[in-house]
Amino acid sequence: MEKYGGTSVGSVERIQAVARNVAEGVKQGDSLVVVVSAMSGETNRLVDLAKSLANRPSRREMDMLISTGEQVTIALLSLALEDLGIPARSFTGFQVPIQTDSVHGRARITSIEGDAIVSALDSGKVAVVAGFQGVSVDNDITTLGRGGSDTTAVALAVALKADECRIFTDVDGVYTADPRVVEEARRIPRITYEEMLELSGSGAKVMQIRAVEFASKYGVPLRVLSSFEPGEGTLITREENIMEQPMISGITSVDNEAKVTVRGVPDRPGIAYSILGPISDAHINVDMIVQNVSSEETTDLTFTINQDDLDSAMDLLAPVVRELEAETVVGDRNLAKISVVGVGMRSHAGIATTMFRALADKGINIQMISTSEIKISVTIDREYSELALRALHSAFRLEESAKKGG
Ligand code: ADP
Ligand code: ASP
Ligand code: MG
Repeated sequence: MEKYGGTSVGSVERIQAVARNVAEGVKQGDSLVVVVSAMSGETNRLVDLAKSLANRPSRREMDMLISTGEQVTIALLSLALEDLGIPARSFTGFQVPIQTDSVHGRARITSIEGDAIVSALDSGKVAVVAGFQGVSVDNDITTLGRGGSDTTAVALAVALKADECRIFTDVDGVYTADPRVVEEARRIPRITYEEMLELSGSGAKVMQIRAVEFASKYGVPLRVLSSFEPGEGTLITREENIMEQPMISGITSVDNEAKVTVRGVPDRPGIAYSILGPISDAHINVDMIVQNVSSEETTDLTFTINQDDLDSAMDLLAPVVRELEAETVVGDRNLAKISVVGVGMRSHAGIATTMFRALADKGINIQMISTSEIKISVTIDREYSELALRALHSAFRLEESAKKGG
């Protein structure tokens, strides 16, 4: 199982290079399933087109639109393969079929029927499958959330019992921080599913979180590789396959968070439910939640969501605020979340202190804090996001630790 992301199929020349790579594998006798993304920039272009026509475009029509990018690349890659004398057959999500629930824009895969692909493989063809898309019980096209081609690849690897899933992208592995932002970032040779889950869940877009969830659940090894140059990449695997673990494996940022604060809510049972219930019913993902008791028996409830959901959330909460007789609801778009991830947190004290000191030294104010067993996250003013990443990367000496390990 191989997956090629947007930049890896970003031009005719790149598609030809991918075809040559696939042809190599075929010559070695592999029967191959290849998942591809849309050409780089294409999904964004389609989203922008829709936004220029409608303020809040229907999610069904959005999926119909943004799934087209992948349909272009499966056909182009199949043509390029045929041109090299390699028989190939393209599949949309509907043709496989990849069944999903009907939550447009962030659908979950419910089942995959492997027969059509297996019969293409049996007849000596390469199966080229459109990433990111599926089909709902109502026969509507759905998409799996941005970066969702990773999930298509892993789910297919599980369904077809592939022994490894190779994710080809524009970096040669998973790094200690986004190498585009932190120059000193280092490639991590091996990382556990658990750490990768936390990294993906807190902003490392190199792997979509659902893909890592699937891989972890079914024990499929993932390897992240560059489609531009040869190398070992990063192996994502179970903890027992990794000998020595660094204390901190990586640092991430999410720059599209927004904060909603409901102020002056009468402090009584059921408040969190009344506020967060409608948000969750609207399929808006809530990330951090903080509740503060203030004076006069009222409380403030603050939570963070994706900034694209802020307008909907504010609309949903306006009547709730009136009903609860709360003071007001305010939204703030200019937020970033910075997270430090590492299994070493289980056994080492003082990681939070190092983190907070490094931010204080740069004069960066922390707004909210949340922790899990192997992660500490803070929200800060978005303006300081890159500064915070670099400061933390050096405070935890990640440029050294990864070098030693790799
Ligand atoms: P693709 O189109 O192949 O799916 P993505 O753009 O989704 O590629 O993911 C690759 C990008 O992820 C890299 O170009 C890099 O800037 C970014 N990235 C963010 N965090 C990390 C990290 N910790 N390690 C590697 N890449 C990262
Ligand atoms: N083309 C989709 C996106 O840009 C899916 C993917 O690339 O994985 O999000
Ligand atoms: Mg991606």
